[in-house]
Amino acid sequence: MEKRNKVAAVVLAGGQGKRMGTTTAKQYLLLDGKPVLYYALRAFEESCVDSIVLVTGEQETEYCREEIVNRFGFGKVSHIVPGGKERYHSVANGLAALEQESPGIVLIHDGARPFVTASMIADLVRETEKSGACVTGTPVKDTIKIADEEGFCAKTPPRKMVWAVQTPQAFSFPLAAHAYRKLLEEEKKLQRQGVQITDDAMVVEYMTSRKVRLVQGEYTNIKLTTPEDLLIAEAFLQKKKDRKNI
Ligand code: C5P
Repeated sequence: MEKRNKVAAVVLAGGQGKRMGTTTAKQYLLLDGKPVLYYALRAFEESCVDSIVLVTGEQETEYCREEIVNRFGFGKVSHIVPGGKERYHSVANGLAALEQESPGIVLIHDGARPFVTASMIADLVRETEKSGACVTGTPVKDTIKIADEEGFCAKTPPRKMVWAVQTPQAFSFPLAAHAYRKLLEEEKKLQRQGVQITDDAMVVEYMTSRKVRLVQGEYTNIKLTTPEDLLIAEAFLQKKKDRKNI
């Protein structure tokens, strides 16, 4: 039988989620009685992924171990590690925990995106086996404007060329580990240039010559960021429950 690449996932739950305006970080808010983070972990647990590194806030590792990983029996979670100041520091910590295991492929996912599915994960892994670097996303529905410094419309990119990217984002592990190591070495320089790192594909684009493939995902794979996202998430979840009862 052909030996397949070992696949690992880094699930991020180390942020504070200030835009949600709640005292509890958004990834721990309850959605139908379970923490938001539960849903992403369950999708990875049920997927083709072999192991999961969970990255949490420094004070939350024990809560996550007891109340989420052990309580729901997520046996694929092999490490729970504290995150860092910025999202990219948290990703770097997650990747460092995988150095020894050295998987073929790593998927990086925001724990605040509860609607990822095992089939999205499988699609992404298949594409990453071919191209080495992929992001999930959707073509935008709205027209997008690039603004100038004064708040006027500067450019209107053709809509079919504009995608809103989500997570998971998946890479060959050596590529991601190399890109993130280089990012940490060049962090100060990028800060001086005013570059803000907002996703993983950007790290690979800036730090390596590898092109990142866009893989069509689902519009339902939202990230919970502001309070209205919770209402949308509750509606999606209710719809899923209704379908199961049919
Ligand atoms: O803040 P934002 O919505 O971009 O966060 C995306 C994901 O990254 C969330 O799941 C959040 O918990 C995680 N994160 C992290 N460490 C940080 C900042 C964000 O793990 N320092």
